[in-house]
Amino acid sequence: MVAEPHPDPRTSAPKRGINGAIVRVWGGKDLSLTVLEREDPAEDLVRLRVDLDGLLARDDVYPTYWLRLWFTAPSGKGHQRAYTLVSPDAEAGTAWLEFYLHEGTASDWARGSRPGDRIEATVLNGRDPVADSPAHLLLVGDGASFPAIADTLRRRPEIPATVLLEDAGGQDWMALPERAGLTVRRLAPGGAIVEEALTAAGTAPAGTVAFVALEGAPTRALSSGLRRRVGLPKEQVHALAYWKRG
Ligand SMILES: Cc1cc2nc3c(=O)[nH]c(=O)nc-3n(C[C@H](O)[C@H](O)[C@H](O)COP(=O)(O)OP(=O)(O)OC[C@H]3O[C@@H](n4cnc5c(N)ncnc54)[C@H](O)[C@@H]3O)c2cc1C
Repeated sequence: MVAEPHPDPRTSAPKRGINGAIVRVWGGKDLSLTVLEREDPAEDLVRLRVDLDGLLARDDVYPTYWLRLWFTAPSGKGHQRAYTLVSPDAEAGTAWLEFYLHEGTASDWARGSRPGDRIEATVLNGRDPVADSPAHLLLVGDGASFPAIADTLRRRPEIPATVLLEDAGGQDWMALPERAGLTVRRLAPGGAIVEEALTAAGTAPAGTVAFVALEGAPTRALSSGLRRRVGLPKEQVHALAYWKRG
């Protein structure tokens, strides 16, 4: 059920500083998102349905598409973090944002968010991993990239996929859609995911596209291993660090 907007909605529109200037030079387009609905499916997950300020009429919001959101740090400064648009609804002009909660300004904003709240966002992002309908997908991620991985599997059910997921256990919300042609391996965090993913890539069908979205160090290690050890062409490797260990 969609809740009534809160009588005292808040807006996160901080001064953007040097990061804002850089994003502007790169040609980022600005939006203002409005929270329409909130769900709390688990202690460490908040889902928000947001109005996308007309984005879906202008842009192809492919699976894994993300926005830079401008949170406000306790100091008042801009704190830019990326979040994935899940289940876009072109008719309604909305999508869901799914926040895996931990310590942090973005997580805190999600914890306190309520219908009617607004937050500024900038569109400036990467490449569509499923644009060329790859023969197979190798999707490697964790809590931060789970929304992107699950949404890709739901929206492109015809593409066979192997998923390797770092899963701390007890995170029931990290359930993947049931579908044909899907192999899933769950691994404890901080362990063997890079080596396991390289092994899986070594036996994957020709034309496999790899989507790698882990913490910084394993993302770099896997991205380099996929190209140098497995020999995947760089156009078939979509690797981006989704977070940095503090
Ligand atoms: C393209 C892209 C798309 C993303 N999509 C999503 C998404 O849909 N949902 C989502 O939840 N996240 C997503 N992320 C990750 C999210 O942007 C980061 O986790 C971000 O650092 C959170 O900001 P924060 O202000 O809460 O914490 P920060 O201020 O960045 O960090 C505070 C502390 O929390 C730790 N931390 C940060 N992120 C994590 C994490 N994921 N797991 C464990 N510890 C962490 C840091 O090491 C630090 O110690 C995405 C990132 C990218 C690059």
